[in-house]
Amino acid sequence: MKAFSVIGITQSGKTTTIENIIRGLKKRRYSVGSVKEIHFEEFAIDQEGTNTYRHRVAGSELVTARGYYETDILFPEQLSMEQILRFYEQDYIVLEGVTDCNVPKIIAAHDEKEIAERLDETVFAISGKISNRLEKYQGIPVINAIKDIDALVNLIEEKVYEMLPQFSSECCSACGYGCRELGVRILRGKAKREDCIISRGNIKLIIDDKEINMVPFVQNILRNAVEGVVRELEGYRDGATIVIKLR
Ligand code: SF4
Repeated sequence: MKAFSVIGITQSGKTTTIENIIRGLKKRRYSVGSVKEIHFEEFAIDQEGTNTYRHRVAGSELVTARGYYETDILFPEQLSMEQILRFYEQDYIVLEGVTDCNVPKIIAAHDEKEIAERLDETVFAISGKISNRLEKYQGIPVINAIKDIDALVNLIEEKVYEMLPQFSSECCSACGYGCRELGVRILRGKAKREDCIISRGNIKLIIDDKEINMVPFVQNILRNAVEGVVRELEGYRDGATIVIKLR
């Protein structure tokens, strides 16, 4: 799964850019999901007085509204981006306005000032209203998503990599960098996605069909615990592949 975020202020052309990117990716037969961050404290789909609101107030910890054409599971809290993305399995996930996730970014902007306020090493393209009058900003391509969506989708295909784990550098630096830094190096062509040692680790933990990333320390604990038990059993041999399923 590959993910990237489109960031920028309201009316900068952010949603138009995303609409065109989604259409462009779909045209190339990718499956696409999206997440929209709402920067409005009062936002809630579940409004006071509705039946689902009454369920929640009565104490229900997870409420679902099931309609004929959509099903909305209403979590009564803000989930982390990592938790949210566990529900997705599309080829590309487009995040709108998300900044707290270690993924490549596109800035949508009206002017240079807005770019400068948001620019960091994870930005690989610029779009939005400024693309009517600029082609490059500090070496980064500025692409109009309405007139030249193919060029923007080409760049997304070239730059956006399979999502890296989201560990802090205190938890893991097994590749010699942190997750964010490795991402930046991949964007610059100085590293490869396979340089994430954790992803090619030889121990996998899958919970409900989703692979769980584990730092080397946790991988070692799990490996030692499992091997410590099964090596006493008949049928064990060094180097064997061990699969345990818990239900
Ligand atoms: S090895 Fe993977 S998980 Fe560990 S710091 Fe590098 S990118 Fe992150």
